[in-house]
Amino acid sequence: MSDVIREPLLYIGGEWVRANGSELEVEDPAEERVVGVVTQASASDVTEAISAAKGAFPKWSGISVADRVAFLRRLQLLLTERADLLAEIVNKEQGSPLALARKLHVDVPLSVLDATIDALGSYQFKSQIGNSLIFREPIGVVAAITPWNLPLHQIVTKVIPALAAGATVVLKPASLTPLVAYELARAIDEAGLLPGAFNLVPGSGSIVGEIMTHSPDVDLVSFTGSTAVGRQVSMAAAPSVKKVTLELGGKSASVVLADVSDQLLEKAVKITVANCYLNAGQTCTALSRLIVPSSRLDQVEEIAAAAVAKYLPGDRLGPLISAEQRKDVLSFLEPDSTGGAKALHNDQLPLPERGYYVPPAVFSRVPPDSRIAKEEIFGPVLSIFSADSDAHAVELANDTIYGLAGAVWSDSQEHAIEVAGQIRTGQIDINGGQFNPAAPFGGFKQSGIGREIGKYGIEDVLELKSVQI
Ligand code: NAP
Ligand code: MG
Repeated sequence: MSDVIREPLLYIGGEWVRANGSELEVEDPAEERVVGVVTQASASDVTEAISAAKGAFPKWSGISVADRVAFLRRLQLLLTERADLLAEIVNKEQGSPLALARKLHVDVPLSVLDATIDALGSYQFKSQIGNSLIFREPIGVVAAITPWNLPLHQIVTKVIPALAAGATVVLKPASLTPLVAYELARAIDEAGLLPGAFNLVPGSGSIVGEIMTHSPDVDLVSFTGSTAVGRQVSMAAAPSVKKVTLELGGKSASVVLADVSDQLLEKAVKITVANCYLNAGQTCTALSRLIVPSSRLDQVEEIAAAAVAKYLPGDRLGPLISAEQRKDVLSFLEPDSTGGAKALHNDQLPLPERGYYVPPAVFSRVPPDSRIAKEEIFGPVLSIFSADSDAHAVELANDTIYGLAGAVWSDSQEHAIEVAGQIRTGQIDINGGQFNPAAPFGGFKQSGIGREIGKYGIEDVLELKSVQI
């Protein structure tokens, strides 16, 4: 792979065409050096891409499910063949260490792709209730707007279900990490997709994103990113009454119940730390709050302090995405944000000379109204709280505007499932339960609207039609 990747073209209507916007430099956050230059889409380029998607819709929506499955299987093969290249690109533009780039940023979306194809193959697009035939029909043109934290995964979870459903797509990747999307577009082209069914228009949220969300020719905006921008997207979409799905932030809790054995307690704390620090803390599902029984707090602090010491920046912990993100995250470590909580980490940890690294942090006895308790940090910062009962633990877990993910730990699976039922979030892992690419993914409360992944991701891109006979 060349030293600086240059992408001067856009993929519109099945062709690589000249981009008419300004140039954008892409920086490697581990090296603080430019690794890519892309030419952004201009306003007229975006309009053209939306027209191409609209033009392709009647034909793509009419293609048989078997042919859609066949296309997606060809795409899967091509992406699997270039998995190492995809990981190298994510490593360059997003900063994740190469092994993590492969495992988290490439293998996970490939598993989502596989689960989506399986779901499509068996999906019932037609059913009957009483004298009505129920048709599930693709919604039309989907505008996909994605963030930088999981550059390929977030794209795959939008573009693949949309194409699977028979909708057509215009994709705007994050400006900090636009590069991997070009590789996906090349694979889509090689797999022989109908021209116009997928279009790639990198560029800023304020130009490209705004046009996509306002356009009356877009039928669904599928957005992943911050809650603040999610609100703006909803408002922009309102005048033309388009559907909006949002995957936003989180402040997820890992809840340890009083009946855990010492062994499970240790596992719970270690896995919560690992989950919170995954991708340098930049995942929307991060278990950034740990709630433990008051009687076990001393024990938990000891385990957590030993665990955090193993996350050396530059080794097990990658950099944050940008200088701005580092500044934001460091602000959470200040006493006015922590509310005087007890630090369990080494705050004088030596950091690599270059790269946007921060020391991993764990705070215990965190005041529930402090900034670190309330706000999504999107960095490697864990807050520990103690609870006197299950009800108190549930109350703390639900004391947030968000509702994306969570975890419950108990020696009784039944007890854990019962408590999981009281936590208002879209997904909860019990005793370290693994990510399932066929299960619905999305948020309660201000974490979002809609569900992605597997058959649920396909359903979000379908309209229901009742035909009375
Ligand atoms: P962001 O600033 O909200 O940006 C997300 C995307 O929206 C980017 O492509 C951005 O373009 C675009 N955008 C910005 N302003 C826009 C506008 N006015 N209209 C349309 N699009 C616009 O989020 P981020 O900083 O990239 O990502 C971090 C946040 O995303 C965190 O809060 C995190 O929790 C959340 N997140 C949630 C999930 C989930 O599944 N729930 C997953 C990942 C991340 P530019 O890049 O050009 O600014
Ligand atoms: Mg942003």
